[in-house]
Amino acid sequence: MGSHCESSVKIPPIKFTKLFINGNFVDSISGKTFDTIDPRTGEVITKVSLGDREDVDLAVKAARHAFDYGPWPRMSGSERGRMMMKLADLIEENVEEIAALDAVNGGKLFTLCKAIDIPGAARTLRYYAGAADKIHGTVLKMSKGLQGYTLREPIGVVGSIIPWNFPTTMFFMKAAPALAAGCTLVVKPAEQTPLSALYYAHLAKLAGIPDGVLNVVNGFGETAGAAISAHMDIDKVTFTGSTEVGRKIMAAAAASNLKPVSLELGGKSPLLIFDDADIDQAADIAFRGMFYNKGEICVASSRVYVQEGIYEKLVKKLVEKAKATVVGDPFDPQVNQGPQTDKKQFEKILSYIEHGKREGATLLTGGKHVGQKGYYIEPTIFTDVNEDMIITKEEIFGPVMSLMKFKTMEEAIKRANNTTYGLASGIITKNLNVANTVSRSIRAGVVWINCYTAFDVDCPYGGYKMSGFGRDFGLDALNQYLQIKSVVTPIHDSPWH
Ligand code: NAD
Repeated sequence: MGSHCESSVKIPPIKFTKLFINGNFVDSISGKTFDTIDPRTGEVITKVSLGDREDVDLAVKAARHAFDYGPWPRMSGSERGRMMMKLADLIEENVEEIAALDAVNGGKLFTLCKAIDIPGAARTLRYYAGAADKIHGTVLKMSKGLQGYTLREPIGVVGSIIPWNFPTTMFFMKAAPALAAGCTLVVKPAEQTPLSALYYAHLAKLAGIPDGVLNVVNGFGETAGAAISAHMDIDKVTFTGSTEVGRKIMAAAAASNLKPVSLELGGKSPLLIFDDADIDQAADIAFRGMFYNKGEICVASSRVYVQEGIYEKLVKKLVEKAKATVVGDPFDPQVNQGPQTDKKQFEKILSYIEHGKREGATLLTGGKHVGQKGYYIEPTIFTDVNEDMIITKEEIFGPVMSLMKFKTMEEAIKRANNTTYGLASGIITKNLNVANTVSRSIRAGVVWINCYTAFDVDCPYGGYKMSGFGRDFGLDALNQYLQIKSVVTPIHDSPWH
């Protein structure tokens, strides 16, 4: 498998490790901390304050006060937008330092964090900053001598529970539209990747965002996360993560104050490659679609269906690409794939690989861990698989592709839809009829045609079926942080009967 590069870069300086509540970095009430780990080595990077229920309570009080009495929801949208623009500038000024945090904490490639994730956060902030002064209701033409209009008001205090695979993207995917709407937030980053969120809290303060508007409470899911989803004073929860936890969050929201939730959950996304595809381009798209961010991406093209005419050639190309992949230190610019985010994820992926072998799938390439320490796994491709196998049904969330052959478009559509998930999908073909028919037939929140993981902030993104509901990105996301109030008066200043 390519080569393995040992870690070359030491841990970057870590400036922020406490909770961020009401504009200040504070210790947790219990005084407890937890270790955050470098997945390159399994060693401790630093200790981070461990937030629990009481800390969430404090953060919610701050966010509630900032929402009910503070300037943030009351100032003009353009003023909010100006501070968000300032935050975007500050992020860009500190891109190297923040990229290093996500790389050392999440095992993500430093160059990609620097080129894509961190600038993407600034772009997301600017997109929603530009929308902040364009939030308006409609005029109601009513009957019975009445007239009215609607106001679109911020929903209130938002709880944001996010995962570890894209710590920066996820942070702003939720926070930027919520801030633009005039909401205040309590963010709980994933326990695996607590560092960059604290840096963003610090920059938000520098940008002039008032105290209490953006709070960050690091901690574990069953304690700090559960406290957010069950909190009576949080008005909405936005979540990205596993389907299992999504269910718990929805149940806790229902059992507490019936707060609305939006859930972006897992996927097992199909990519359909037709005979007329350019083979080199198709191999590129399929490979990157699956192995980007070491397969720790919810839209990963983990089920690749190839039409029989080009199947053999495409398999050969994909195997070549897997073998040429350099797995190693995410700070090394020669490296294509870093370590999996944590030990739990690393072991889970290896156990899925073993399961695949036991189920009778053919391991074409990869399958082993790499190096003596750290959580590195070879890019892995299985063939002779079908939709009944665990490795093809369940989200592995690691560098493991299932490769299958199909004959007709109808068969491919049926098999692509044979999943409980519906997050993403892709088609590679030059035939417009095929592209249009398949894109309308696949039940998934996004269909990429002749591209994959082509995200941008102006394109709404979210799931069908058990991949969740609600949309991140685009103006649809902004609407999730707003609610509509109707204001009605009689047309004439006379008693209304
Ligand atoms: P997870 O769903 O457990 O964690 C995501 C977030 O939810 C974290 O911040 C976590 O602390 C929090 N959380 C956990 N339990 C909670 C609870 N009871 N109440 C409230 N919040 C809670 O994900 P994971 O365990 O880190 O990963 C497991 C699997 O989830 C992965 O293998 C993958 O399949 C999936 N996943 C999907 C995405 C995605 O982008 N859709 C991201 C990460 C993980």
